[in-house]
Amino acid sequence: MNDDQHAPGRKDDAEWRQILSPIEFAVLREAATERPWTGPLLEEKREGRYNCRACGNLLFRSGTKFESGCGWPSFYETVNPDAVTLIEDRTLGMVRTEVRCRRCDSHLGHVFPDGYGTPTGDRYCMNSVSLAFEPADTAGNEGG
Ligand SMILES: [Zn+2]
Repeated sequence: MNDDQHAPGRKDDAEWRQILSPIEFAVLREAATERPWTGPLLEEKREGRYNCRACGNLLFRSGTKFESGCGWPSFYETVNPDAVTLIEDRTLGMVRTEVRCRRCDSHLGHVFPDGYGTPTGDRYCMNSVSLAFEPADTAGNEGG
């Protein structure tokens, strides 16, 4: 387990509990799922970036967010394939693909091949509490 100490973003549970709220810890570190239609980022429509709540790793851009009707923020593509780790998840009697932050190994949500009408056909079904939204207008005004 000492290998983890060499990876940036890796922390032990006690450290995570200090920087995450209880619900954030439950989702990010214990793979819980927030209740649908409750996440604060569900209706977020501004331009900006979606970072990992735990470590700040850039995961999605607002241009790939779409209305999936599933009750969780949905994206059709990550900023790049190296941003996340995909893991086969056989819990709940289903075969799903879990999405984790590659930098800190936190649980983000699942990806499903039913992003109908999107450029990729994928639906990254994310927990709002796993993401931190950074509006474009606070990241600099170049190009105004
Ligand atoms: Zn992370």
